[in-house]
Amino acid sequence: MVNFTHPAGRAHAAAAAVTAAAAAAEPKTLRGFFGVFRYSRRALELVWRTSPQLTLALGVLTLIAGVVPAGVAYIGSLIVDAVVAAVRHPGGSARHVFELVLLEGAFVASTAAAQRGISLCQSLLRAQLGQRVNVMILEKALTLELQHFEDSEFYDKLTRARREASSRPLSLVMRTFGLAQNGISLVSYGTLLVRFSPWAVAVLLLAGLPAFVAEAKFSGDAFRLFRWRSPETRMQTYLETVLAREDHAKEVKLFGLGPRFLQRYRDIFGRLYREDRALTIRRDAWGFGLGLIATLALYGAYAWIALSAARALISLGQMTMYLLLFRQGQSAVSASLSAVGGMYEDNLYLSTLYEYLETPVPAPGGAIQRGPEPQDGVRFENVSFSYPDAAEPALEDVTLHLLPGESLALVGENGSGKTTLIKLLTRLYPPTSGRILLDGLDLRDWDEGSLRQRIGVIFQDFARYQMLVGENVGAGDDQYFEDEARWREAADKGQAAEFIKTLPQGYHTQLGKWFRDGRELSGGQWQKIALARAFMRTRADVLVLDEPTAAMDAQAEADVFEHFRKLALGRITILISHRFSTVRMADQIAVLEHGRIVERGSHEELMALNGRYAHLFTLQAKAYR
Ligand code: ADP
Repeated sequence: MVNFTHPAGRAHAAAAAVTAAAAAAEPKTLRGFFGVFRYSRRALELVWRTSPQLTLALGVLTLIAGVVPAGVAYIGSLIVDAVVAAVRHPGGSARHVFELVLLEGAFVASTAAAQRGISLCQSLLRAQLGQRVNVMILEKALTLELQHFEDSEFYDKLTRARREASSRPLSLVMRTFGLAQNGISLVSYGTLLVRFSPWAVAVLLLAGLPAFVAEAKFSGDAFRLFRWRSPETRMQTYLETVLAREDHAKEVKLFGLGPRFLQRYRDIFGRLYREDRALTIRRDAWGFGLGLIATLALYGAYAWIALSAARALISLGQMTMYLLLFRQGQSAVSASLSAVGGMYEDNLYLSTLYEYLETPVPAPGGAIQRGPEPQDGVRFENVSFSYPDAAEPALEDVTLHLLPGESLALVGENGSGKTTLIKLLTRLYPPTSGRILLDGLDLRDWDEGSLRQRIGVIFQDFARYQMLVGENVGAGDDQYFEDEARWREAADKGQAAEFIKTLPQGYHTQLGKWFRDGRELSGGQWQKIALARAFMRTRADVLVLDEPTAAMDAQAEADVFEHFRKLALGRITILISHRFSTVRMADQIAVLEHGRIVERGSHEELMALNGRYAHLFTLQAKAYR
């Protein structure tokens, strides 16, 4: 299979690459034929684990549905011969004919029952399997690292895997079963037909082969198209979100962006549609041409059978049976062909699913739950870090030491690396070089759960869960997610209690507009909720506030931080803020520039130094005067 990795925006080059790669892939098509079964086993395992009973029922019913049609054809031939015999010897075996008709009726009824049963099992399995695969996808998502989510190529994998999660595995299994059913039918037709001539069997089986080759090739092309377009489909989904969701509606309306975005959406569709149309037309044209060959071959055989009957080489009953076998055989062959074509697509889809599910996840760090020096606090030792594919390091040679009870403020322009430093401290990313220690133990060696419990962070883009107010607070500590007493305590500390009281259902008010009676909060109110969330983390002894107070006025922010510091007694607190009135309260201030710490010390020390910090501080103080 060809793997495309290319950035969006180079569509033309990529389109050319697709055509070229499709051509280059042709010799591999043969391998592709066998690849058709590559994921059948895994899909079958998946289905089996989802429901052994249903899978078993499906197997049995498939067998019945496969064998019975040949039986029907055979009984049909007996009926015709019995009728002919009855005509020749009047008064003979009319009763026998009747019995045979009854028997055939019973056979036909049992096929119908088997087909019904198959579709029943299928519906039941579809629901269960869709859920199961979605859960597998989400479970995997929980084990992934932040950097996976920030990687667009990986994100494509995830989107592709999710898009058809519920339908493909079942479809593959159903097609595999369908193929087995048609295979069984063909074998049974073949056993009856071989008595006429082995050549007839060969015609039946070979006539469909060219159509099959074309089918497999075009399925491969379709899949490559599907894969290559992932970035564009993603843009489409994104535009849908922007145009149709409440969080963007305000700005889209006021800036009149709607028509422009909608046009983009249309353009993407137009481009995708043109490619689709070209492929579909080619696929159907070839399908028709090659299908015609199959029909011709089959009708040739048809004529041969009819002529043999005319020359009395076979009985009328046999002729009826052979013709029926041929007609049904033909439809079994074409059903198998389209099943195989579809299986090829399903397989390719499953390959993306398993590619996603098998994304290597770095082994979770160590297993140590406690550091050797609990009084040592946090240390950064010559820490540098570059984001994947970034030319410039986001942090360079950062060294810091914070003792329990100390507070640190990080100051610097946008993009100077403040948030990155916090991401490293919380082990969302490992440092590229240097090390970070908590209680004298390298973060890498900490047990993930214990480490996360020790650190509480509220980022500037903290999550606004469309859940209850109380749950939004409770989210700060999973263990007490639903503990109302703790919600109240934390909200009190985060200065959110007051406005929560004014909400219609207090802590049980639904937030956000997605659900009925959901309330929207102001930016400042959300930030108070976020602060309260930080206070839920009573067990954390490193607390980080990454500008969650930016929407409050300067006085409110200063109050919050003062309050925060008092309550955080004995813990390490780290604060990121652009407001120097708040920053000056911290024990230590670090000024970051292009990922480096350029100045460090208390407010007084840095003012005395009369460098970068003093300059910025005076600038802001002037503005306020
Ligand atoms: P600050 O918090 O000081 O505003 P950040 O730590 O967010 O700055 O960013 C530091 C640098 O790292 C910036 O140049 C930014 O463009 C880059 N950066 C931030 N996040 C990512 C990311 N997820 N991937 C790549 N680069 C990033």
